[in-house]
Amino acid sequence: MSKKSPREKILDAVDQAAGCARDYVNNIHERSVSASSSALQALKRLNESLPKSGTSAKDVIDLLHTYASPATTATTGGRFFGLVVGGSLPASVGAAILNSVWDQVAILDIVAPSAIYLERIAARWVLEILGLPATSSVGFSTGSSMANLIGLAAARNAQYHKLKINLTEIGLCNAPPLRIVLSEEAHVTVAKALGLLGFGKNQFIYIPCDPQGRIRADALPSVGPDTIICLQAGNVNSGASDPFAEIISQSQAQGAWVHVDGAFGLWAAASPQLKAQVVGVELADSWSVDAHKWLNTPYDCGLAICRHPAAIHEVMTTIAPYLELGRQVPPKDMVPEFSRRARGVEVWAGIKELGLDGIVDLLNRTCAYARILAAGLREMGFKILNEVVLNQVVATIGTAETIQKITQIAQAEGECWFGSTIWQGRPAIRLSISSWATTEQDIQRTLAAIRYATNLASPIR
Ligand SMILES: *Cc1c(COP(=O)(O)O)cnc(C)c1O
Repeated sequence: MSKKSPREKILDAVDQAAGCARDYVNNIHERSVSASSSALQALKRLNESLPKSGTSAKDVIDLLHTYASPATTATTGGRFFGLVVGGSLPASVGAAILNSVWDQVAILDIVAPSAIYLERIAARWVLEILGLPATSSVGFSTGSSMANLIGLAAARNAQYHKLKINLTEIGLCNAPPLRIVLSEEAHVTVAKALGLLGFGKNQFIYIPCDPQGRIRADALPSVGPDTIICLQAGNVNSGASDPFAEIISQSQAQGAWVHVDGAFGLWAAASPQLKAQVVGVELADSWSVDAHKWLNTPYDCGLAICRHPAAIHEVMTTIAPYLELGRQVPPKDMVPEFSRRARGVEVWAGIKELGLDGIVDLLNRTCAYARILAAGLREMGFKILNEVVLNQVVATIGTAETIQKITQIAQAEGECWFGSTIWQGRPAIRLSISSWATTEQDIQRTLAAIRYATNLASPIR
């Protein structure tokens, strides 16, 4: 074992990791977006039987950088269009590094003063950016999956209260079923959250959608205090949002709770140019939104926002003699986690770096790139299946096999990365332009790469 002090050991690790990080970032824009097959092969070097004795931190970091760094997907390089994610903003990457060395357990103010302070400011800023009520509860979760779970957990107990049932006492198995209304196009994580909360598929009432994936307001059943309605801002394929203004007030007047899954689409509320997509969304009872998608902070970071803080606290509060109660609600009482990373620090940093103008520019710019991409694809002979209302493009050409080939060839060539999907029954390529790092040149390079892959996949066209 080395004779170094703990301080020297950490300093060495930080210096070494900074060097590796520089090296990684330095060639990310040039290298293949997908990991090469040789990089994937070399990754196996890390798969050994349980190490009986230790290895120096230096060698551990070396191993990671040598074998794991090349086998990443270059999501930060500007030409990754998979899922709905982009690369992290510079200030939020820096904040994440600092956050790691701070190593704060962001449960209570007394143990993580600056971290929780920053999270509270970030929370206030996000509410203002999105135009949501300033008194809302904001919990920083690992993502929208968890934020949906949090919002729906609060909804569940609150709705039972309206039925004069105290769920925390009698338990779900002794309670009559609620009615769960959701869109046919609800994201898979909404159904997962509902399942975790004890709701079964038999109590789901699915509402049909228009061809863009928006719930049809005229198809909404009658609702009441026994109802939770799950709406969506930003369909994961088309980017379309539900008609909130037509649904929310009227459903709430009948006693329903309206939850909005706004993983990426809720950010549209921040931009005067895009706001029309989500008119009325601010009327809902609870919302989920991701920072790690369109706001470009590191993972894992979503926000569970709720108009009714007491409903959140009912399901999330933990009280123990060793926990001092402060004046403000501690993070542990707004999310399921107890010991937790102060992921909101990176949100603070990202918002501070961009400012409101910068955020609006990021949103508008990526949407403009989506339109350029769609126009380029149309010129190539693709049919654009969605109205490009946000940052999503869904395009088709040829058969399912053609789509598979185009996707595979493009991924293997490594110029860009996008996936395929089925939209309204049609196989399609799907591109999400979500990164601050994407430039117009990246869009042109991507179009060239798609042209190449399309010609190879269907040479007789
Ligand atoms: C990504 C996404 C989710 C899930 O969010 P995570 O942050 O990945 O947990 C939920 N809904 C929609 C519409 C999404 O795009």
